[in-house]
Amino acid sequence: MILFKTIVELEKYLIKERTANKSIGFVPTMGALHPGHISLIKTAQEQSQLVVCSIFVNPTQFNDLADYQQYPITIEKDIYMLEQAGCDVLLLPSVQEMYPDETHKKHYELGSLEQLLEGKYRPGHFQGVCQVVNRLLEIVKPTLLFLGRKDYQQCMVIEKLIKLTDSYTRLFIVPTMRETSGLAMSSRNLRLSEIDKDKAKAIFTTLNWIKEHLSPGSVGILIKEAESRLMDAGFERIDYISIAHAKTLEPIEIWDGATPLVALAAAFLSGVRLIDNIPLTDGVASLP
Ligand code: AMP
Repeated sequence: MILFKTIVELEKYLIKERTANKSIGFVPTMGALHPGHISLIKTAQEQSQLVVCSIFVNPTQFNDLADYQQYPITIEKDIYMLEQAGCDVLLLPSVQEMYPDETHKKHYELGSLEQLLEGKYRPGHFQGVCQVVNRLLEIVKPTLLFLGRKDYQQCMVIEKLIKLTDSYTRLFIVPTMRETSGLAMSSRNLRLSEIDKDKAKAIFTTLNWIKEHLSPGSVGILIKEAESRLMDAGFERIDYISIAHAKTLEPIEIWDGATPLVALAAAFLSGVRLIDNIPLTDGVASLP
């Protein structure tokens, strides 16, 4: 694996690879890698001729300074995991390298996506995500961009960014990798004790409970019951549990039995904010 710390050097290298007509698969991450990230690398290898990964803890997407400061960093282990996985290229830029001036501070018109769910509870988060992804797409110019379905709303935001910027990059969404307990793998799980990890699986079991009990008509009672299940399991605060239209994320109050649905949740356990989602209906596996 070739490691680049400067963007200029990476760009020079990629020009050569593009001239050789190689398709480039790109996997952006914030590091603290786990098997979920590696499944993105593996999928990228199946779909492209050259795989580029980036590790950059992007300050502009954190609405909570403490969350940024506590974000886990395991860079040596990350490099080892990427090498083991056979990743071709790693970009490891500094903040100064990524944001040398103010030009990244564009505003992206994300519409209601920015008001709903993560947008509502993490103001400014998706603007920061768009800033970093746009910068990375301009550098790497990948044929395919690989994102995890675990961050469902983020996938929708990036789909929108790709349209807004007329980028030729196509999005490829990879299923969520889970622990055997069902807990979605996440870098933030590193901040949980073993006891908390056991409690945290309730987020997935609760979403599945919603799926099992869903039927046409009012869904409000399901949300209420799901919230008490999460609190009973030991979560201290719930930002949201939502049954939403799979293509717009608008909350659904009365289900007609046909609208494609996704269930999403964000909740705090021992000060760690966890998110997860599952499709509630068939045909939601690929995003709009
Ligand atoms: P992050 O490092 O958290 O910014 O995540 C980098 C990429 O990995 C994003 O596209 C995430 O959606 C994806 N990802 C994170 N966790 C998982 C998981 N458990 N399964 C699959 N993809 C994931």
